[in-house]
Amino acid sequence: MVDLTRRRFLQSAAAASTFAAPVAARAPRSGAGWLRAPVAIASGNGLQAVELAVQRMIEGWRPVDAAVAGVELVENDPNDDSVGLGGLPNEDGVVELDACVMDGPSGLGGAVGALQNIKNPAQVALKVMRHTDHVLLVGEGALRFARAHGFAEENLLTEASRKAWLEWREKRSARDKWVSPDENGEHGREWFQKYKHKTGTIHLGAIAANGDVGSCTTTSGLAFKIPGRVGDSPLLGCGNYCDNDVGTGGATGRGEACILANGGSFVVHQMALGKSPLDACLEACRRVVRLTKVKRLLDEKGRPDFQVQFYAANKSGETGAAALYAGKYAVCDAAGARLVDLASLYDEPPR
Ligand code: ASP
Repeated sequence: MVDLTRRRFLQSAAAASTFAAPVAARAPRSGAGWLRAPVAIASGNGLQAVELAVQRMIEGWRPVDAAVAGVELVENDPNDDSVGLGGLPNEDGVVELDACVMDGPSGLGGAVGALQNIKNPAQVALKVMRHTDHVLLVGEGALRFARAHGFAEENLLTEASRKAWLEWREKRSARDKWVSPDENGEHGREWFQKYKHKTGTIHLGAIAANGDVGSCTTTSGLAFKIPGRVGDSPLLGCGNYCDNDVGTGGATGRGEACILANGGSFVVHQMALGKSPLDACLEACRRVVRLTKVKRLLDEKGRPDFQVQFYAANKSGETGAAALYAGKYAVCDAAGARLVDLASLYDEPPR
């Protein structure tokens, strides 16, 4: 299964270059050990984000800043209900955002969790990285910190997101995130099947032409989560990680699975051990499968009943991404910005 899907991935990557934008023409002249052009990889909602991130790196921006500039496009988009403005709210109808950034050259990172009223949490995470001795601020403290830095507060709940929440609330018996220990037993899946995950998020990994790396993940998290729930996205080593000697790794999808697998750092460590970005991501998918044991999380074939995607880029500018189930991701390199099929462990799209 994996090999077939991987072949399809390679074919589609080759085909994608036929509609590539002329980013290479704007790239700086290559020196020894430099890439032909900067590289960015992102989740499937990041096509414009990767193009902007590469453009910013061509203009000389640091990769982490380029990554944040890219994801800001999606944070500001009210029609993406998984990130920033218009993100689906928690079970109380309040939008709570998570984000983190990591900067390869300095080895520093910053993050915010369960941040309300500020539509660009990735920018607040940058401030945490540059203006504090901490890595992660959450909730009220994160909001006060954002206020201190002059971020404007606004209602992030759009009409569409409010209506989605209201509908969920009206039907919510057995659809919230509370799980009794009994549901981890024999009959757990019957209960769990009544609820379908609603996830989203953007991760963006950026490699400058000189090989410096930076990365970012930003999200409104799992829809209708318990207030205060923090997913993998703001946790360095889970939804996002980078190492300037190796590359970047990140994840989207069911955050709980990625946290338990330490996905982002696992991907980067696999590359440090010599794996290609694609193989590192496939290995992370296998790890999620191996660690998913309780029945309520498995389908009738014994496979995880949720989606997780991993994305990786190494210092040489090679990229790869893989998921449990089929889907797309975005990449921009010397061949331009394009959407590419994810390699996947299972051929069909997530249910
Ligand atoms: N990983 C995110 C979270 O669990 C959601 C997603 O990527 O769809 O918060």
